[in-house]
Amino acid sequence: MPQPIVQLKNLDITYNIGKENEYKATFNVSMEIYPEEYVAFFGPSGCGKSTLFYSILGILAPSAGQLLVKGENPYSFSPEKMVKFQTSTIGIIYQAFYLINSISVLDNIALPLIFHSAAPGWRKKHALSLLRRFGIEQHAEKYPDNLSGGQSQRVSVARALVNNPDILLADEPTGNLDSISTKQVMDALEEINQKDKKTVIMITHNAAQLKYCHRVFYMKDGRVERVVSNPEKKQIAKIDRQKMIVSEIDTLSKLYPYSTPIELKVKSLVNYLTQEMPIEQVQKLERSVQLVLERKINKQQFFASLQAEQKNGGVGLSPSAARTAVRETEKIMLQSEEVQRYRRRLEQNNFFEREGDLVRKISGFLAVEAGGNLNPTQSKRLKELVHQRVSGLIRQEEFAALAALPLPNGGIGLEQKTAQRLTYYFEKIICQGIETKGHGH
Ligand code: ADP
Repeated sequence: MPQPIVQLKNLDITYNIGKENEYKATFNVSMEIYPEEYVAFFGPSGCGKSTLFYSILGILAPSAGQLLVKGENPYSFSPEKMVKFQTSTIGIIYQAFYLINSISVLDNIALPLIFHSAAPGWRKKHALSLLRRFGIEQHAEKYPDNLSGGQSQRVSVARALVNNPDILLADEPTGNLDSISTKQVMDALEEINQKDKKTVIMITHNAAQLKYCHRVFYMKDGRVERVVSNPEKKQIAKIDRQKMIVSEIDTLSKLYPYSTPIELKVKSLVNYLTQEMPIEQVQKLERSVQLVLERKINKQQFFASLQAEQKNGGVGLSPSAARTAVRETEKIMLQSEEVQRYRRRLEQNNFFEREGDLVRKISGFLAVEAGGNLNPTQSKRLKELVHQRVSGLIRQEEFAALAALPLPNGGIGLEQKTAQRLTYYFEKIICQGIETKGHGH
């Protein structure tokens, strides 16, 4: 077990000490980060991630506690040693890149070498080799202003590595990037960790990026709330087996990275109260359903995957439960196509001709779900409400309330429970039928 490369012990960091606007940004933070680890500081804005970063970088002295990098306290360094520390022990990349726009890309990368009195010819050669490595050598003579965000970030990755530091700090490295550039930068960071064996410490907001890390420090309100080891990565830090009991909470914390420990416990219990399936089984079911929704498997394959035993990669449902799931999924997918048609026409402002038809069809599906015995007035009201809901004129709660409202008051007059079930079902169709942009990471 190597010594930690970064060690924080009961660290408090306070801004503006002794002034009126004194502000304590971190409380009693303790952590040990090991050589060659890739870790993330993850948490909502303002929780103290950057504060810790700047403190590790040697530019924000803690007000209490101990901070060691490679076994030394950077705040005890002479100014010369501090420069060496900041340029050769630590490389840093920022969300906003911070490249110097008045010099070329190549010079931006070569610049940190000046502090280490390297010969100019070698500086350029070395900088160029890094540009080549990150696939941006054709931009060497350009000014940073002329680069895209993704190219700029790769330049700053190259610059951060030019002095061959032990630690790479990455402060929201993909915060300003599109998804393709994000992938390139994340791949570069992973390679720097795995091939170059650098310790990588990343600040991120993006839960999808946590999978790259060995461990995640979840932060909130200036404290480290929990540390989660990624079960898919071979761990470098020693894991306390007793503490490391892998539980549903770990699975849940991946699904709901912004939830607090108490919220995760709530989810676990509510899952137990509302579903027969444990969360792991729900996840297997999700994978099968995704394949169906993406039309990558057909009905028979879907049925087979639902019924197959979990140890064989299936969901492990009983034959009758699998049949019901296939039937309901198929029904909802088919019915949702009517919602899709309706929305398309609505968006194209071109739906009046067949609007009645589509509303009639959707109302028909719902009438069946409601038990089928609607009188003509109820059918008419249902159609009106369907039209209003699919057009976005009323919300889900309003639909439910109007469905249960007595007929003389202008509602459909359904029993409360029926109205709720109907609304629940209708929302499922709407959900499948609308075009979503999603969050695509
Ligand atoms: P994060 O990186 O997680 O978004 P920060 O570390 O930037 O959070 O900030 C943590 C807290 O410290 C915030 O409440 C922020 O307003 C405060 N803070 C950050 N920088 C300063 C500063 N220079 N002076 C006073 N308060 C600050």
